[in-house]
Amino acid sequence: MAPSWSHDPHTVLKFRTGDQVADIDTDSSPGFTGGRADADAVLADRSERFAELQEMLYANGKSGGDHRSILLVLQGMDTAGKGGIVKHVVGAGNPMGIRYTAFGVPTEEERSHHYLWRIRKALPPGGYIGVFDRSHYEDVLVVRVHNLVPPDAWEKRYDEINSFERDLVDSGTTLVKVAMFVSLDEQKRRLAERLERPDKYWKYNPGDVEERKLWPAYQDAYQAVLDRTSTDYAPWFVVPCDKKWYSRLAVTELLIRALKGLEMSWPPADFDVEAEKRKLSDS
Ligand code: AMP
Ligand code: MG
Repeated sequence: MAPSWSHDPHTVLKFRTGDQVADIDTDSSPGFTGGRADADAVLADRSERFAELQEMLYANGKSGGDHRSILLVLQGMDTAGKGGIVKHVVGAGNPMGIRYTAFGVPTEEERSHHYLWRIRKALPPGGYIGVFDRSHYEDVLVVRVHNLVPPDAWEKRYDEINSFERDLVDSGTTLVKVAMFVSLDEQKRRLAERLERPDKYWKYNPGDVEERKLWPAYQDAYQAVLDRTSTDYAPWFVVPCDKKWYSRLAVTELLIRALKGLEMSWPPADFDVEAEKRKLSDS
């Protein structure tokens, strides 16, 4: 844990039974002792640590035969800042070892398969950090809110997701599930900004405004996700996101913690280092 934190984000942000989505203070910065003015320096420092550990994971996958991986699951309403996490947090790492996948409205082919089909295809191989920008959880969020399948179909999915994630963890993947929460007001400000700035039009989708009317239904659907799929092997972390600098610092710490949990070191040489040095100098 970095000195600028009074409490480890892994502890303060972990969802606890009984926590209510409606009570989340989206503008808060739990566990962080500094403010916005400190954020850039802390992020720069901790990003370096993240990058070092991420490269070590990749190195172990590549030459150490380590089959383990990390899967960062980002879920949140539009404008929560998923893209910012990808750019500013994951982006500090080496792209060589990152598998990024964004999950949008399923294609015709995807719809012809089980909803986990496209998820399985995108899982990170050993040594990689997989990043899911939206995920299988859309199949109990947007799908539930819009009745895209009947209730008895989505109802079964919570248990199915839990056993899917259990298998993933057992096969060596550490899940870091991040639920990102912005307030309805902050979302309005961010959507307004997208409409003011030509460099942000690409992020704007007219349907996003319609979704705002369904905010309470989404809150309920997120509550059900947290209540039913936060497990000891794959817990959810609830991240307040009105302050972008905070959410980025928090997710950086969650990733560092997951990487440290793998207790890695640099893979040893699988050749005779001294002999190679002699050969090289003679060459
Ligand atoms: P964005 O992440 O802003 O590019 O938007 C992707 C859109 O795809 C969002 O509106 C999601 O709700 C939607 N989406 C993602 N997964 C599913 C799914 N399984 N079924 C229906 N819509 C989905
Ligand atoms: Mg969007």
